[in-house]
Amino acid sequence: MIEKEFSKEEKELFSLLDWAVDYLEHGRFKNKEDKENAKISIKMFKDTRVLIIKCADKRFEDLKRIEEENNDHLHEYHDVTCPKCKFFTSLLPSGKKKNKMGYMCPTFECPKCYNDFIADEPLDAHDMVAMCEEMLKILYKSKAPQDQVQAFKGHIAALKLANQNLDEEHAEIYKQHADIAELVRLNIAELSVYKQQVLDNQNPGFLN
Ligand SMILES: [Zn+2]
Repeated sequence: MIEKEFSKEEKELFSLLDWAVDYLEHGRFKNKEDKENAKISIKMFKDTRVLIIKCADKRFEDLKRIEEENNDHLHEYHDVTCPKCKFFTSLLPSGKKKNKMGYMCPTFECPKCYNDFIADEPLDAHDMVAMCEEMLKILYKSKAPQDQVQAFKGHIAALKLANQNLDEEHAEIYKQHADIAELVRLNIAELSVYKQQVLDNQNPGFLN
């Protein structure tokens, strides 16, 4: 599960922003202009904090959704047939387990005979493609009818395309969050210099 929490850098930035606001709110100013500038800086620091919190919330939501899209079919109904009593129905998985080929698949409990069984449908979309490709090799070896082989190849191609589209969409989201992380690092660097100058009593003026 994805945990909702701020990164180490975000926490560091928050502490610098808190320090900067506190410093400016209690500062003594040489003139009216400095005092007005302080107000602008305080607003800017507070806005930055709000923005970073918003971005972190969005990151949490995005990562949670990506995790669900990638491999969480545990909360969906699956059409399954009990291998023991052959009862066909739509069921929610009871859990997950590796199948004979080593892929993590959903497990079910038959509502009729209470048999526990595993369905050969890997939860991860990329595992699904990998397993289908292994099955295709078996079809080739067993000299299955050409139309059956072709249909299965078409099925694999469609799965791959769906995965590719999703991967590209996810890559775009990861990039957005990487850009924000970079912005956080830049802000830390800038504010650290500012703080050091204040502590050294160099009268750095105001960031804008
Ligand atoms: Zn059954």
